Amino acid sequence: MQILVTNDDGLNSAGLWALVGELKKVAAVTVVVPDREQSAIGTAVSLFRPLEVREVAPEVEGVAAYTADGTPADCVVLALGKLMTGAVDLVVSGINLGPNLGEDVYISGTVGGALQGYFRGSSAMAVSAPRGSDEALPTAARAAAILAGRIASAPPTSRVFLNVNVPDGPPAGVSGARITRLARTSHINTVAEGDRPRRYNLVRQRVDGAGEKGTDMHAVQSGIISITPLFTSLFERPSGRFLKGLTDGFTEELKEYR
Ligand code: MN
Repeated sequence: MQILVTNDDGLNSAGLWALVGELKKVAAVTVVVPDREQSAIGTAVSLFRPLEVREVAPEVEGVAAYTADGTPADCVVLALGKLMTGAVDLVVSGINLGPNLGEDVYISGTVGGALQGYFRGSSAMAVSAPRGSDEALPTAARAAAILAGRIASAPPTSRVFLNVNVPDGPPAGVSGARITRLARTSHINTVAEGDRPRRYNLVRQRVDGAGEKGTDMHAVQSGIISITPLFTSLFERPSGRFLKGLTDGFTEELKEYR
């Protein structure tokens, strides 16, 4: 099995190397990551300038490692299009130093990197751990390695895109793993006054309180590893009746629009 690892926290992230240390036990691993932090960049790609790639010394022996001066999505596009040869079975993004739950998957650079892998035909997995928890990094790294092994042994028709979040604490403290759905919220975004007029800070506050049962947030709060199959609903057509309702009489209404 061949695995590409990327992240959005950059080359020096402890989460990156905890992940690589476990994955190299089950696969040949290539690391391609941004040369600086790219958190909350989503799946943005850099189309209007060249990208510089550097081969760098890995913190874990036996893997090839590169940085690019771009986004996680850029790294995955570069890796799959140029830097790696042969089939890439799995793209793993992380371990992010902070959770990526609920609607945050839409802004997460960690998830955005994995998404590009999925778009390009690989199975993909984003892996995140609670912020500031060194104890949870082995939990996340091992969970990723176990899932990578299971994905590798599944038939190639079952290509998946997973968002994995682990609860706080070491592997021994985990109460299980559960298939979840995204919580309908994760952060409250507010606008705070900046240090001078017409200058503002977008502030992200964690939602306190229990997540709804069945969601990724609820699982993590319950000490359970959350595995959310992602984005399938984006590719599911709404009912034909609904779509017909969107377009029936459209031209007439457009003409009469005032
Ligand atoms: Mn990050």
